[in-house]
Amino acid sequence: MKAAEVTIIGGGLAGSECALQLARRRRTVELIEMRPSSSTPAHRSGDLAELVCSNSLKSDNPETASGLLKRELRLLGCRLLEIAEEAKVPAGHALAVDREFFARSVTEIVDNEPLIRLDRSEQTDLELPPCSVIASGPLTSGSLSFALEEHFGNEHLFFYDAIAISVNAETIDSSRVFKASRYGKGGADYWNIALSGEEYNRLIDFLFSAPKSEKRGFEEQRYFEACLPVEVIAQRGPESLRYGALKPKGLVDPVTGLEPHAVIQLRQETLDGSMLGLVGFQTRLTRPAQRDLLGLIPGMKGAQILRYGSIHRNTFIDSPRLLDEKQMSRSRDGLFFSGQIVGVEGYMESIAHGLVTAMNIDRYLDGKDVFLLPEHTLTGALQAHLSSAHVPFQPMNVNYGLLPPIEGPKRSRKRLMTERSLQSLRDILSV
Ligand SMILES: Cc1cc2nc3c(=O)[nH]c(=O)nc-3n(C[C@H](O)[C@H](O)[C@H](O)COP(=O)(O)OP(=O)(O)OC[C@H]3O[C@@H](n4cnc5c(N)ncnc54)[C@H](O)[C@@H]3O)c2cc1C
Repeated sequence: MKAAEVTIIGGGLAGSECALQLARRRRTVELIEMRPSSSTPAHRSGDLAELVCSNSLKSDNPETASGLLKRELRLLGCRLLEIAEEAKVPAGHALAVDREFFARSVTEIVDNEPLIRLDRSEQTDLELPPCSVIASGPLTSGSLSFALEEHFGNEHLFFYDAIAISVNAETIDSSRVFKASRYGKGGADYWNIALSGEEYNRLIDFLFSAPKSEKRGFEEQRYFEACLPVEVIAQRGPESLRYGALKPKGLVDPVTGLEPHAVIQLRQETLDGSMLGLVGFQTRLTRPAQRDLLGLIPGMKGAQILRYGSIHRNTFIDSPRLLDEKQMSRSRDGLFFSGQIVGVEGYMESIAHGLVTAMNIDRYLDGKDVFLLPEHTLTGALQAHLSSAHVPFQPMNVNYGLLPPIEGPKRSRKRLMTERSLQSLRDILSV
């Protein structure tokens, strides 16, 4: 049989979307999926596009980032979203699906697509045809992970996310913040919040007793020393955070003129400064506990969390340094990466990335340049994040903080951002 034009490793969310999009563009595809003969610690079936945990694809309200992403994907003709609509179960504003029906439907559609050949085997190395896509997800099999380490070097392949809490800068009480860098080195880049002894002790007591999210069975309690959860550091001794992420050294509180007892620092995470990360606050606390935690920090009681802290197993690569703008290896022409392995986070984000990968491979095979979606769209902003200069690079789910700011009354901004995104997408699609 004639060799396929594109080989895709992994029939998960990104791989299945990518395969169906390529077939729609009349490309032939070989899709290699190792299940059911080999599986991952989280998948349960042999079906393609299995949702490994929640059955929710999150909100479909247009004034949420998840809802906007879905609207963009509908305009772009996303196949898995169409299938999800048919598998929909009642869930208020959220798009939730019957998990088994959804995965079975994707499998049947792929099986019946004459341009896709489904091969049930494990890919153990990178000996692949000239145009190939690695879409093997956050639980990539051991042998393939090893081959990737050899290709990129092990310092560029990560196995755990340690995500710190990120908040909307506008929702912080700025009267409690002073901007400065330690010892005045560099610009006044950090937002600093001074803690009194009493405030610090209250925070430590809370971290000791606050509820943590359950570890999944296959996740060992093995953290990298450099990104320990804040509650684990607190448990090493009440003073340990004051000598770590919350150290006050080199900072002077302009209100008192003195070095505070402890300091919480926030660092800009988006170019426009609308999203700030709490330095050192990677955590396994439950989401309600993370909200309660902010209530204990001066000036952050009403702060809106844009991204919750988390720590979980997740194989991903240092995309900004290893891949080009279309997520093709800089060191091997024709080797693409797609889905969560490139550093997008979430079901819909992985599907979205599978779709843009297909668009770019189709162009690549025709010798055309990379296709970048407008920065005003969440899909485009996610693409841009994968090439951003953030160090350390961390996976990202969609949120409004990724979009350029917009003028207008505060309460209308999300609606305006949604309109701007969809209009810019319609404009380029009609060209
Ligand atoms: C345990 C867990 C729970 C999660 N829960 C949620 C959630 O509730 N909501 C959410 O939005 N996101 C969640 N995520 C994050 C993420 O959205 C999903 O993991 C998503 O499925 C990623 O899509 P993907 O296509 O990149 O990878 P996957 O959907 O995992 O697809 C990868 C595929 O590659 C196959 N494969 C792996 N190695 C090989 C190989 N060597 N050869 C051939 N095939 C291979 C796998 O069997 C799998 O089918 C979770 C992640 C994990 C790990």
